[in-house]
Amino acid sequence: MAAALFAAERGLSCIQIGNSGGLLFASGLLDLLGVHPVAEGRLWRSPYEGLAALARDEPDHPLARVDAASVRNALETFVAALGSAGLAYAPLADRNRKVLTPIGTVKTTFGVPRSMVAGSYALEARPPCLLVDFRGLREFSAAQIVATLGDRWPGLRHQQIEFPGYEAVPELYAAHLARALESAETRGRTIALVKPLLGDARVVGFPAVLGLARAGAVHAAFEAALRIPVFEIPTMPTSVPGLRLQGALESAVSARGVQRRQQARVRALSFEADGGSATLELVGIPGGERVLARAVVLATGRFSGRGLTADRGGACESILGLPVVQPDSREAWHQRDFLDPAGHAINRAGLSIDENWRPLGANGKPAWPGLYAVGSILAHQDWMRAKCGSGLSIATAWAAVDQVARQLRGNGAG
Ligand SMILES: Cc1cc2nc3c(=O)[nH]c(=O)nc-3n(C[C@H](O)[C@H](O)[C@H](O)COP(=O)(O)OP(=O)(O)OC[C@H]3O[C@@H](n4cnc5c(N)ncnc54)[C@H](O)[C@@H]3O)c2cc1C
Repeated sequence: MAAALFAAERGLSCIQIGNSGGLLFASGLLDLLGVHPVAEGRLWRSPYEGLAALARDEPDHPLARVDAASVRNALETFVAALGSAGLAYAPLADRNRKVLTPIGTVKTTFGVPRSMVAGSYALEARPPCLLVDFRGLREFSAAQIVATLGDRWPGLRHQQIEFPGYEAVPELYAAHLARALESAETRGRTIALVKPLLGDARVVGFPAVLGLARAGAVHAAFEAALRIPVFEIPTMPTSVPGLRLQGALESAVSARGVQRRQQARVRALSFEADGGSATLELVGIPGGERVLARAVVLATGRFSGRGLTADRGGACESILGLPVVQPDSREAWHQRDFLDPAGHAINRAGLSIDENWRPLGANGKPAWPGLYAVGSILAHQDWMRAKCGSGLSIATAWAAVDQVARQLRGNGAG
């Protein structure tokens, strides 16, 4: 999605094939680099200082190959595009922020939706704070957060309320509540229930259900009516902030003229000799389709995205059978300890690339001059442990699209 966005912003004619991947499950938070080295669990206040250390220690890490100015440009452009699609993020600073998780632990991240940022400040200053949750919403427990954090945050308390109109419904889902709160009547009734509970609270937190497509307006309405800062806390996946991110990104790429084939899958990819076109055979749409392209950006993810598949013999790249950097044997995939701080070797598997983001074939040379690879399919990184998922995808997309643009300028094509 990021590669399609950046390609369109550079005026390249672009088709994006496949759906929007793991975004649906994501928290809406944009991690850049939180932890390095992962085995030590060292947290970085400045992701850019962390990236400089990463570049020294792990030069093969994909994020080590992107210069700091490009990382900044990539994230600024990405967040601005989300803003233009109606999803506002807090201005990006040079530092990471801390946010609450639905179980009361603290997550280090970089890009924070505007609706969550008051929570980040509250976590630092720890003023009297009310957390509200809704009876029947299993994806979130304010009581659990207070139980986890209360001894270090004395003014933190919680209250549970009924969600207006859902009093007889035993189990609630975050996405339903988010849609319901876009109605002024439901919003007004919810606010009326919360107001008398505020007491001395100087800030109030809710599960992330304050609107879906119109989240900015719903959040603003809560702040205006309650007269104190309001923040959201992500719920368990699939989360409303993930749905918002997906929706805003889809709008942003479509608004920039990217043609989308959301339901399609690439069954085969073949190439003409140097300088020619690639042919992509699409399935999953009526009648199938063949797409000719001067350049192809492979962003098919790891195992959950199915860019890599695994069997008893090892891990394989699923479209072209490109060589996958991986442990020598399956016995070496995992550490004995599931929670080993160093993580598991299989979570660093993926494609090797040259200095221009082109994946290497079996002969150690780029598989095709116009084929690029970005995101979690790249080797030598464990994004989950390093807390760099979005940053890795966005920054590598930026760097690869830069190479695509150079290649096409060289060819005189668009
Ligand atoms: C549960 C969860 C929580 C997360 N939370 C966070 C978070 O808090 N902060 C953060 O920064 N990041 C988070 N992330 C990570 C973030 O979403 C990743 O950066 C991102 O998913 C990786 O992107 P990717 O594009 O490399 O791969 P994916 O998201 O896996 O996307 C790959 C896409 O390629 C498609 N594809 C595969 N093969 C084909 C084919 N042959 N033809 C067409 N399409 C194909 C797949 O369908 C999929 O849509 C989270 C991810 C998950 C799963």
